[in-house]
Amino acid sequence: MKRHAFSAAAFSGALLGAAMVSAPAVAQENFITIGTGGQTGVYYVVGQSVCRMVNRGSDEHNIRCNAPSTGGSVANVNGMKSGELDMGVVQSDVQYRAYHGEDNFESDGAWEDMRAVFTMHGEPLTVVARADSGIEHFTDLEGKRVNIGNPGSGQRNTMNVVMEAMGWDTDTFSLASELDAAEQAAALADNNVDAMVYVVGHPNGSIQEATTTIDARIVPVTGDEIDALVEEHPYYTRSVIPGGLYRGNDEDVETFGVAATFVTHADLDEEIVYQTVKAVFDNFDRFKRLHPAFENLNEEDMISDGLTAPLHEGAERYYRERGWID
Ligand code: GLU
Repeated sequence: MKRHAFSAAAFSGALLGAAMVSAPAVAQENFITIGTGGQTGVYYVVGQSVCRMVNRGSDEHNIRCNAPSTGGSVANVNGMKSGELDMGVVQSDVQYRAYHGEDNFESDGAWEDMRAVFTMHGEPLTVVARADSGIEHFTDLEGKRVNIGNPGSGQRNTMNVVMEAMGWDTDTFSLASELDAAEQAAALADNNVDAMVYVVGHPNGSIQEATTTIDARIVPVTGDEIDALVEEHPYYTRSVIPGGLYRGNDEDVETFGVAATFVTHADLDEEIVYQTVKAVFDNFDRFKRLHPAFENLNEEDMISDGLTAPLHEGAERYYRERGWID
């Protein structure tokens, strides 16, 4: 390993030498790509907002950031592993499973190079049903047409765990569709499914779309199996979706949930992660105004809650500078 690093350094040194002779020094531009989720969710706004903060300082640090829409948490983990993505938004349960190589990450093994950056908003498991479907509670999904999420999404990953806990499989439903997050509200409105499942911060465009186009209600996800899941797993918490956020949904709804987390790869340059974190926290009030789901964020929880992987050294440098960690 050392020898390899040495020869790589010697090689790039030779290239650098040649470049210095033939061309004037130009500051190197660094492009970073952040994996998000569907365009009507909150991850997309997280990525866009982080990039907006970073790109305000591009003249100084030469980092340019973009945040395309993706399939969600699991797609983001896979994209960071393969090098297509530099950073990504990932559910805290997916972070845990990917880092430890559990469940559907078992065949890949533990991803020990995952690094945590910070935690964002809470994400309750949100089940929205057509008012005419007869679904009043999560357990009424049996025999119904349900969008269980695209493979690659966090909700699909969480649903797999929930289905196993309930003793369900895809045959439990009369239809188990795998539409992308951004497609599910329209599928619900068009009566192609009875219910949609989304692990997502509130309020968001997708549930807004579902509840304004048709009469639809958010139903509770509770019961002994759910209690056991919350008890067993450190990343699950009991959670309430507040009433009054969406048309026809005035009451609080009980469910359980995770947190959205921002993660990266250990190999990403220390300075890049440092500048990204600095861009967010130096402009924190401005950042928080970019989405209502960011309103209650606070620095202390963001650097401690919901993180399984160790902090990236660039993030650590900034948090230490601010006196937030030792
Ligand atoms: N939690 C979802 C996922 O991991 C994404 C939610 C969002 O886009 O806000 O796929």
